[in-house]
Formats: sequence, structure tokens, C-alpha cells
Amino acid sequence: MGETGYDIVLVGSGLGSLLCAALLGKHGYRVCVLEKNRQFGGCLQSFAREKQVFDSGVHYMGSLAPGETLYQVFKYAEIADDLPLEKMDEAVFDRIVFLDDQESYDQAQGYARFIETLVPQFPEEADAIRRYCEQLQSVCRHFAYYHLAPGQGLADKQPVLDLTLKDGLASLTSNTRLQEVLAGNNLLYAGDASNTPFYVHALVVNSYLQSAWKCRDGGSQITRRLVKTIRRYGGMLHNHAEVVSLEEKDGIINAAVLKNGERITGNHFISNLHPRQTLALTGSKQLRPLYRQRINALKNTISSFCVYLTIKPGTMRYEKHNYYLHTKNGVWEAIQCDPATWPQTLFVFFGAGQQQQDATTITLMTYMPYDWVQPWADSFNTDAAPADRGESYTAFKKEMEQKMIDMAARQFPELPAAIQSINSASPLSYRDYIGTADGSLYGIAKDAHNPLGSFVSARTKIPNLYLTGQNLLMHGLLGVSLAALQTCSAFVNETELLEKIRHA
Ligand SMILES: Cc1cc2nc3c(=O)[nH]c(=O)nc-3n(C[C@H](O)[C@H](O)[C@H](O)COP(=O)(O)OP(=O)(O)OC[C@H]3O[C@@H](n4cnc5c(N)ncnc54)[C@H](O)[C@@H]3O)c2cc1C
Repeated sequence: MGETGYDIVLVGSGLGSLLCAALLGKHGYRVCVLEKNRQFGGCLQSFAREKQVFDSGVHYMGSLAPGETLYQVFKYAEIADDLPLEKMDEAVFDRIVFLDDQESYDQAQGYARFIETLVPQFPEEADAIRRYCEQLQSVCRHFAYYHLAPGQGLADKQPVLDLTLKDGLASLTSNTRLQEVLAGNNLLYAGDASNTPFYVHALVVNSYLQSAWKCRDGGSQITRRLVKTIRRYGGMLHNHAEVVSLEEKDGIINAAVLKNGERITGNHFISNLHPRQTLALTGSKQLRPLYRQRINALKNTISSFCVYLTIKPGTMRYEKHNYYLHTKNGVWEAIQCDPATWPQTLFVFFGAGQQQQDATTITLMTYMPYDWVQPWADSFNTDAAPADRGESYTAFKKEMEQKMIDMAARQFPELPAAIQSINSASPLSYRDYIGTADGSLYGIAKDAHNPLGSFVSARTKIPNLYLTGQNLLMHGLLGVSLAALQTCSAFVNETELLEKIRHA
């Protein structure tokens, strides 16, 4: 690998790490990113089947119009200008469908349009819908970074941390159908009625209500551009570079040790791994047993199962919006994954290519607990280390794929005949690619009953070891980007950095 002795060594190459590397490189630090997989990007990877591009993780994102938070961060990271984005339909970015009742409700971009669209379907709830919109924005104001303002730690957030999603919605309306519509895309944040905090819902939904986008040719377009920025500022990136331990000397980390025995030395280390996996890399006594216990006890969000379909040319129309399909009580019960009724929620995403008339790819996604793939837990399969998990696993996947396709066909009867090829990813795929223990969808679950306990700080007790990524503040492109700013502020003046980003 040649040169070592970097200012900052970053472990993992998810969005969090890539953004930190790009921003810190831009601020003069010599950075080196170490990624275990062939592709950089973590959940922001894309892959091709039948010459069509699919996203492994990120499908759509909010807050990317000029002046909005994610746009400004991307602009400062020098990737915003030529990102091949497609704005989703302003009149509807998410269509919430209740299959059993054959009812559907559209979520539109922009608060005014969101209200105008929903009120005709809930005329008696007009006030509640308006108050809901005010509430979302008011909760978001408690998160300073969300508005690129210097943060005051947890103190400013505290008043909104312990309200649950269910109680938050119930305080606005007793209309259960409206509650279901407002929470109808809760797969986006693995929203569970009684534990997920209302603020998680608010931060995620508000970003899409501002503006909703997809990347043409996959979310890896973001990765590619970040890699370019890192290289432009002299940073190094290495794939097939799995870090197996962090070596400590005189109370600080002095090297990341790779699986092949190489040591990459540096002055500072940022881990993009799940905090639990980061702790496993170091036996440092500076990380006290209580801290380790707390981190190891944090609950992860559930995992998922995704079906990737290529579509025969000319058989289905391309849709500029997503669908969230629900069976009876699916909005609240789907996350429990009762095998008798699974799947109860389905996210349907039309991949954006260059031509917009016909659908070329459709991705279906739903929840799946890790337990369901436990029989094959001893297997490991990635493109860098391909292996067959066996016939019983293939049969299991086929059965799950069919159930999801059957559910999608209730909304799109033409789908089964339009399918050209089927691939899928189970919790094991996410576990093996991302390196978590259980293929968790979004990492640590925020918990309204343990609000402070579910936040993880960017700093650790080891003075030169920092964390970044979706486990800090929030998952998703926006959440991870804000966490990256939090990590970067350990190296550059926070107020100046945020000011530069606001004016990028
Ligand atoms: C199925 C799915 C759908 C999603 N859809 C959306 C969406 O529509 N919109 C949205 O905004 N967000 C979405 N997300 C969430 C979003 O993708 C993530 O929150 C975000 O990409 C996580 O970034 P991260 O920085 O935490 O790193 P991660 O993506 O978790 O990456 C961690 C990286 O570390 C590497 N690594 C692990 N161990 C090692 C090691 N020992 N040595 C070296 N490298 C290692 C991994 O290979 C990986 O590259 C989705 C996620 C999933 C799983």
C-alpha cells in the first residue's frame, strides 16, 4: 500500500467516512480511507443486473434543492453541481396505499402543497394537518446542525427527545387513517409506534417535504464524486483493505492493522463502522467496561429484504414517485414480521435511468428480522469473496421474493408478466457487505424511552479515535452528512465550517 503516516486514517467508506475525508482533505489534512469491500460507499453502492443499475441502499433523498441543508453540504464537498439528480414528482413523491380498502393518499413536496393535497381527503382534519406541518418544523428547529447552525449539544434537543411517534401523532389527530397516512412511509426510518421518537419521523419527513430526489444511475454517483473530491485534495483510498484491529501505543491509536497484516499508521483515526464493530477492533482499557456495555446493549433497527426486478422493455410505465403498500394495520404491525401475514408493508421504487417513459427496474423492500436467516448464518458471500449459501437458502429467498411480488401485484397486476429477472438481498447480504452483526437497516435504533442513551458521540475516550456514520445522530443521507460535520468539527472550527457550508 506504500505510503503511511497519514494525518487521518478512516476505517470504512460509507457516506460518513467519504464526506469526512472529502471535507478534511479540503481543509488540508492528509487522509486515507480503508474499505474492506471492492466497491466504496457502504450502503451507497450500486450494482448491475441485466445491464440495469440498482441501489443497494439509498433510493431517494430529501433536502437537495439549492440552499437546503444536504445540498449545501454536497456543494461544499464539491459534488452537487454535476450530480445526475431527478426531482421526484412535486405533486406526489410517496403514494401511501391501503390495499385492502383500495384507498390511496399522496404526499406532495412543499408544505403548502402537502396540505392542499391531503385536506380534500380529510376535510374535517384540516387543522390537524396544518398543526402537524407546524409540529414537524418546530421539532426540527431543536436540531441546530439540521439548519447548519452551531450545535449546543443535547441541551437544545432534550425537550423533543422522549415523545414517541404514536403519542406525537395522537396529540394531533384521533383519526387513525390520517395517522396511518402520515406514518405511511415509516419504513424509511423503521418507525415503530411506541419506541421510535417523533423527532426521527420529523427530521426524515421534513427533508422530503422540502424536496425529494433520486439519482439517475444509482446512488453510487454520489460515492464516485466524493472519491474524486478526496483524490483531488491528495487523499488516498484503498479497497480490499479490511481493518482487523486498531493498534494502541502510549494511550493513542497509532495504526490500523489490515487483514493481510499491513499497518497503516496515522495521527488520528475515524471509524465509520457500527460502534459495536469499532469497539471490537480495540481492547483499549481507555474504553471503560461501562461504555462498552452501554454500546453493546444498544438495540439495532430491524433488517430488510429487497427484491430487485428488471422489467421487460415497454411493459410498465416509469413512475416518478414511490409507493408504500400496506395490508390491514400494516403501517404499525409490519415491523413485527408475523410469518403468517408477512409482508404487511412494501416499498416500491422505480429506478431512474436516462429515459423516463418505461420502467426498467423496480425494487421492492420490506422488513425482515435477522432470525429468519439464522440457519445460513455461518455462510459469507460478497462479490469480493463469492460463496454459495446453499440450496435451502435459494429456496427460502425464492419463497420470500414470490410473497413480495404477489403483494406488489395487488397494486400492479401487470407486474408478474413484466418481470425479466429477479434478484434479492437478505439480512445476510447487508451483514456481509456492511459488516454489522445482524444486517440492521439503519444501525442503532433511536428510542424515545432511552433518549440520551441512544445517541453516540463522535469522540471516544481514546483521544485520537473518533466515530462517524449513521449511528451518531440519524441514518439516511442527511443524517449521516450531519454526523460527518459533527466528526469534522473535532478537527476544524465548527462555526467556520458551518458558515462556509451555508455560503458554499
Ligand atoms: C436497504 C436500505 C435502503 C435505504 N434507503 C435509503 C433511502 O432511500 N434514503 C436514504 O437517505 N437513506 C437510505 N438508507 C440509509 C443510508 O443508506 C445509510 O444511512 C447510509 O448510507 C449509511 O452510511 P454510513 O456512513 O453510516 O456507512 P455504511 O453505509 O454503514 O458503511 C460502512 C462501511 O464500512 C465498511 N467496513 C465495515 N467493516 C470494515 C472493516 N473492518 N474494515 C474496513 N471497512 C469496513 C463497510 O464495508 C461499509 O463500506 C437505506 C439503507 C438501506 C440498508
